[in-house]
Amino acid sequence: MNPERGHRLAVLGHPVLHSRSPAMQNAALAGLGLTDWLYSAIDVIPEEFGALVRGLPGEGFAGANVTVPHKEAALAVADSASDAALAIGAANTLVFRDGQIFADNTDAPGLLDALEEPAGKLDSRPALVLGAGGAGRAVVWALAGAGMKVMLWNRTRSRAEDLAKELGVEVIPPEQHGGIDPGQFDVIVNASAAGLGGRDGLAELPVDPGGFHSGQTVVDMVYGEKPGTLLEAADWAGAKTVDGLEILVRQGARSLEIWTGQSPDLEVMRAAARESSPGTLT
Ligand code: NAP
Repeated sequence: MNPERGHRLAVLGHPVLHSRSPAMQNAALAGLGLTDWLYSAIDVIPEEFGALVRGLPGEGFAGANVTVPHKEAALAVADSASDAALAIGAANTLVFRDGQIFADNTDAPGLLDALEEPAGKLDSRPALVLGAGGAGRAVVWALAGAGMKVMLWNRTRSRAEDLAKELGVEVIPPEQHGGIDPGQFDVIVNASAAGLGGRDGLAELPVDPGGFHSGQTVVDMVYGEKPGTLLEAADWAGAKTVDGLEILVRQGARSLEIWTGQSPDLEVMRAAARESSPGTLT
């Protein structure tokens, strides 16, 4: 395929060659009839990230997704940024327009999209976020922004305290640090790497699976070939579950809308992401 000038897109990461985003985004572009667009994967080391990004508009790129380890650098290289990217301190979406680089973050709105709750439904409701790394920052910002009362847990407690202070949320009290009853929360998000690589996520988290119940939504940002033990337990108890693949699809759909102005077919994206080879998320 020969993309039209200004219709090239890519995911930038290191490593990135096994990313599911090219398959997912190219399927979405084809589904929209945008056959002169092309989305690829570019592996770039941190030392070369800034120079590469500044050269992309001249190569005919309209924008890019950014994944580990470049999300903070993506914000730094931009001329301007959305409120979300600035507050989260990281960007996963770059837009090249009129000689300028604009940084955005679709991880946060993508998570809210995946919850599929009507506007206002989350307001004042309790949420539990597990993990205070890059993903945790976006999740806490999104849920707090939707009005939820967020409680944050992180394996390294001081990191949770720092993030909670910065974003104005609460930390799980020390007496619950080793065992949290999830029953009190409407939304529970694992934004940590617990369960990555097929490990037993539930065993790595201080969550008592006996507390899950219907009416809750449990999200696991991590995903593998099948749902992890956290989602298995939540599903068994009747809670609604959202896996990491759905989060990937929703953030990707938001990015594509920003670049093309069109809304892609989520089912097309889900199918392509599911069928593509496992690897980097985003
Ligand atoms: P990160 O910045 O490196 O942070 C890693 C986080 O995981 C930290 O909070 C860390 O706690 C915690 N952690 C690591 N190993 C753990 C374990 N065995 N038990 C409990 N906590 C553990 O990574 P990130 O960017 O936030 O990503 C976190 C996870 O989210 C990744 O595994 C990734 O798969 C997933 N993710 C998915 C999507 C998607 O689209 N589905 C997007 C982004 C991220 P400490 O502070 O104690 O080290």
